Amino acid sequence: MAENIDILVIGAGPGGLACATLLAQQGANVALVERKAFIGPKVCAGGITWGGLIKHVPPGLIERGFPQQHVITRLQRVVVAETNPIIATISRERLGQWMADQAREAGVTILTQTRALALEKHRVILETGARSRRTLGFDHLVGADGSHSLVRRFLGLPTTAMGIGLNCMLPGRHPQMEWHLHTGRFGYGYGWIFPHAEVVSIGAYGDVNNLSARVLKQRLLSWAAERGFQLDPAAMRAGWVNFDYRGVRFDRTWLVGDAAGLASGLTGEGIYPALVSGQAVARMILDPKYPATELIGLANKHRRHRRIVDLAARQRPLCGLMLEILAVLLRLKILDFRILEMAE
Ligand SMILES: Cc1cc2nc3c(=O)[nH]c(=O)nc-3n(C[C@H](O)[C@H](O)[C@H](O)COP(=O)(O)OP(=O)(O)OC[C@H]3O[C@@H](n4cnc5c(N)ncnc54)[C@H](O)[C@@H]3O)c2cc1C
Repeated sequence: MAENIDILVIGAGPGGLACATLLAQQGANVALVERKAFIGPKVCAGGITWGGLIKHVPPGLIERGFPQQHVITRLQRVVVAETNPIIATISRERLGQWMADQAREAGVTILTQTRALALEKHRVILETGARSRRTLGFDHLVGADGSHSLVRRFLGLPTTAMGIGLNCMLPGRHPQMEWHLHTGRFGYGYGWIFPHAEVVSIGAYGDVNNLSARVLKQRLLSWAAERGFQLDPAAMRAGWVNFDYRGVRFDRTWLVGDAAGLASGLTGEGIYPALVSGQAVARMILDPKYPATELIGLANKHRRHRRIVDLAARQRPLCGLMLEILAVLLRLKILDFRILEMAE
């Protein structure tokens, strides 16, 4: 690879891969660096929505689809049913490998085991697997490097809104997809049971301003045990979800996905926002006049989810009541399940 590149993308998650692929398909000279040796695996429940992604990924990647969603509160059990799967599960490893193949086919130079160590204006210092360092110049930089983004820190952007997700993959099959809204356990977050083909994702998500990772972990362990799932604390994985969105464009430096803070603060859903923002940023780099209406729609949905989180944070004693009302509205079909999703 030349020591100068037109566009450098840091991070091979769904945001970086979607962005780099579209850029290369349009003839741009683009390199993508990823610190891990293998693209794909990520702490994640692997839930994707019909409105968001299910219909956009090859059916072979879908592990299981669920036309019914079971929403369980302290007082109610609501089943939301539709004809199409409302949510499906996907393996992050398989999604990442599929997206990386597409990127390579489009002409993206992908460098794995290559960590962006430090940034300067139009230059990055990279550390490769062999611990050797090299400097690479670029014209545009895309930070797709997740919730603790180096690029975001380089821009001096603070991150004050963070979620924490805990996930365990247990072998086995579970019949249904479940969302457990229980303030005594998860504050204004939730616990989930997301079945995959041969494993079940069991986890919990919450706002770090409401629950610490330690408390969330203890509560997840006891809640799961009550449901007959013995989770191994050592096998539990934690990940941060940045939902402090402050824009994607900063001159010729760009942010997408979790680095931009575009995941939902309400649910932690971030695969769809990463893909949509990655593609929108690619189009904006290629055409400065591109109106990016999809990004405006995403930012609006993000703002609505953020408002609910902020309201819940201000009204903690009323959260239990608010969740019961939400369940009633879902039961009566006054609210559509899609208000919980990031896709419009
Ligand atoms: C427990 C949990 C469960 C979740 N469940 C769901 C779910 O069911 N559905 C959903 O939609 N979302 C879910 N999410 C959120 C989702 O995982 C993220 O929002 C999504 O992965 C964001 O994609 P991204 O491309 O922005 O970043 P990432 O997927 O985080 O990718 C960033 C990449 O950048 C690389 N990187 C970071 N720093 C550097 C560096 N300095 N140099 C080189 N490479 C670097 C990382 O190794 C990584 O591969 C969950 C999150 C958690 C924590």
